[in-house]
Amino acid sequence: MIVVMKSDSPAGEVERISKELCYWNVIPEKLLGSHKVVIGLLGETAEIDPKQIQNLSPFIEQVIRVKKPFKKASLEFRYGEPSEVVVPTPNGPVTFGQNHPIVLVAGPCSVENEQMIVETAQRVKAAGAQFLRGGAYKPRTSPYAFQGHGESALDLLANAREVTGLGIITEVMDTSDLEKVASIADVVQIGARNMQNFSLLKKVGAFGKPVLLKRGLSATIEDWLMAAEYILAAGNPNVILCERGIRTFDRQHTRNTLDLSAIPVLRTLTHLPVMIDPSHATGFSEFVPSMAMASIAAGADSLMIEVHPNPSLALSDGPQSLTLEGFEKLMQEMAPLGQFFGRWTKTPPSIATPMLPKVLKWG
Ligand code: PEP
Ligand code: MN
Repeated sequence: MIVVMKSDSPAGEVERISKELCYWNVIPEKLLGSHKVVIGLLGETAEIDPKQIQNLSPFIEQVIRVKKPFKKASLEFRYGEPSEVVVPTPNGPVTFGQNHPIVLVAGPCSVENEQMIVETAQRVKAAGAQFLRGGAYKPRTSPYAFQGHGESALDLLANAREVTGLGIITEVMDTSDLEKVASIADVVQIGARNMQNFSLLKKVGAFGKPVLLKRGLSATIEDWLMAAEYILAAGNPNVILCERGIRTFDRQHTRNTLDLSAIPVLRTLTHLPVMIDPSHATGFSEFVPSMAMASIAAGADSLMIEVHPNPSLALSDGPQSLTLEGFEKLMQEMAPLGQFFGRWTKTPPSIATPMLPKVLKWG
C-alpha cells in the first residue's frame, strides 16, 4: 500500500502520519520522488481500509493498494518513477536507469589469467565500456568443467580495476563467499541458476552492495520480481535486473531464447533498471550484435557482453564471446542507434588499439 502526499504538505506531516501508521503494525518508508512524496507501507496491509488512512490527514492525496505480490519492486511503490542504481567506480559514478545513457558491461566469461583480464579491460574501456565483467566462481553444468579460479581471480579483477578504473561485476555463488566477492565487486552478480537461492538473496540484500539479478533459466517475470523483492525487502534498494535468455525448445541454433519483450513488460511492472545479456541469450557470437542492437531499440538500460581476446581458447563460453575487435566494431555500430535514442555517452575519441603499458598481447 502507498500513501501519496499532496505537494503542499507541511514539513513534518509525513513523519507525523508515519508514526500514526505504525499503529497498524506496518513499516512506513518515506520515498522522495522528483514530483511527489510517497509513504510506502510494508507488512500485512490486506486488512487495512485505505479510507481509514486517508482520514489521517487532509494532505494525503491518495492511498493506493499495491495488488502485486512484489511490493517494493512494483512500479506503484515508487508512484511510477523509475529507480536509479548509482555505482561508484574509480572512473566516477555510473548510473543505471531509464533516464541515463546505456551502461556497457563487457569482459570474459571467466577470469583466466592476469594478462587476458587486464588486456580485455583496457580494450573494452577504450571502446567505451564502464564495467568489466568476469567470473571467479563459475556455475557450470558439469562438475568436470572449469569452475573458475576463485579467490585468486578476484585479485586479478582488482588489478584490472586498478589499471583501468572500470567498475567490476562478478558472480557470487555461495553465501560463504559473499564477503570476499563483495570486497572486490562494485556490483555483485546473482547468476541465473541462483535466482531463487533465497538465503543468498537475503544475504546480498543485507550486505548493501548493488546487485545484478539475472533471470532464472525458466523463471517467469513474476518469479524474477519476487526474487528481486527478497533483496529489496532485506534493505538493499540497488537491484538491476538482467534478462539473459530463457529455456525454450530450440537448443540447436540458439543456447536460449532472448525474451526482449521482458523490457516493455517490466516497464509496466517495476521501476528497476533492466540489463540485457545477448551473449548467454544466444550462445553464439555471430548473433550477439543484432540482439544487442535490438536491445537498445527495445529500451534496455544496460548491456552485458562477453568478450575474450581469443575465444577459441576460452575456458568457458568461447562460442558466444566476441573478440576484442568484434566488441570494438559493435560499439561503433551501436553508437548511432544509442545516440538516436538519446542514450549514449560520448563516443570514445579513438578505439584504435590502446597502449598496453604493462601487458603483453594474449594468445
Ligand atoms: C555469466 O554471466 O557468466 C553466467 C554464468 O550467466 P548466467 O547466470 O546468466 O548463465
Ligand atoms: Mn558465460
